[in-house]
Amino acid sequence: MASMSTIPQLTLNNGVEMPALGFGVFQTPPDETRSAVEAALSAGYRHIDTAAAYGNERQVGEAVAKSGLDRSAVFLETKIWISDYGYDETLHGFDKSAGKLGVDQIDLLILHQALPSDFDKTLGAYRALETLLADGKVRAIGVSNFMVDHLTALLDRATVVPAVNQIEVHPYFAQREVQAFGAQHGILSQAWSPIGGITFYREGEHTSTLQDPVIAGIAQAHGKTPAQVMLRWHLQQGRSAIPKSTKPARMAENLDVVDFELTADELAAIDGLDTGKRGGPEPAVITLENFHRDIPEA
Ligand code: NDP
Repeated sequence: MASMSTIPQLTLNNGVEMPALGFGVFQTPPDETRSAVEAALSAGYRHIDTAAAYGNERQVGEAVAKSGLDRSAVFLETKIWISDYGYDETLHGFDKSAGKLGVDQIDLLILHQALPSDFDKTLGAYRALETLLADGKVRAIGVSNFMVDHLTALLDRATVVPAVNQIEVHPYFAQREVQAFGAQHGILSQAWSPIGGITFYREGEHTSTLQDPVIAGIAQAHGKTPAQVMLRWHLQQGRSAIPKSTKPARMAENLDVVDFELTADELAAIDGLDTGKRGGPEPAVITLENFHRDIPEA
């Protein structure tokens, strides 16, 4: 079984260490989240990625508490939803998330989306993250789904460079431009849907990454599974990745990626699968009107 020591650590731009592989709980219903996170912690995960908008922070917190693990042994990442943007609202958003998670301090707090139609609100929200960081309420701050124009506008006004930009990255959608911009500025790219989940939740024009012949061929050559090859691709390219599964065997499989190495040719072959087509919502069209969601009090 994988243990924490086998999961590579990444050092964020402020020196904080984060396990490169985390466990995602998007679309895991609240009543299944507790057992999923308990199983993930037993499998060896020490980094959980949730969000206020997922409605399952409370169950994540309960699973961590029940595990008996030291609070400092588990890296907790969550996201402020756009409905809580604005300086005061986001400060309160922290209280809601920390309250549900049952913790005093959140390891990594990020803005879930840019709000291009109201970027001042986005900046207000980010200023609140900077305050929370200065006050020691969070150990690191970042963003999610920020494109190059959003990052540029943010860096123009921010005093703290985001530690992380959590974006859709899998072999069929690589977002190389955003990743390169992040790398230039010390912003770590963290892959959501790292094994292509978003492409198999919905009807696409291509088959699932799990059935891709190039990935399957590489998997066979290493005696590994397609999911393991994709996660290894992320790690070797320096990204964090947060695969999700509700099945303990897959949780373990997705952590068992430290005992093999992809060659430069194999990495390039996977890079070659990029379709340039996003599975998730287009970040430019996110508005409060079409994506509003009330985040309940803790
Ligand atoms: P993933 O790429 O992690 O894929 C998850 C899907 O793959 C599930 O259907 C899961 O099914 C299946 N699966 C998991 N492991 C394996 C395996 N080894 N072999 C075969 N199938 C497997 O996609 P997600 O979209 O869930 O993304 C992961 C996380 O990223 C989310 O949980 C969330 O934390 C984050 N995220 C963030 C977003 C953002 O806007 N910031 C947007 C979307 C996701 P099963 O559960 O049945 O095993």
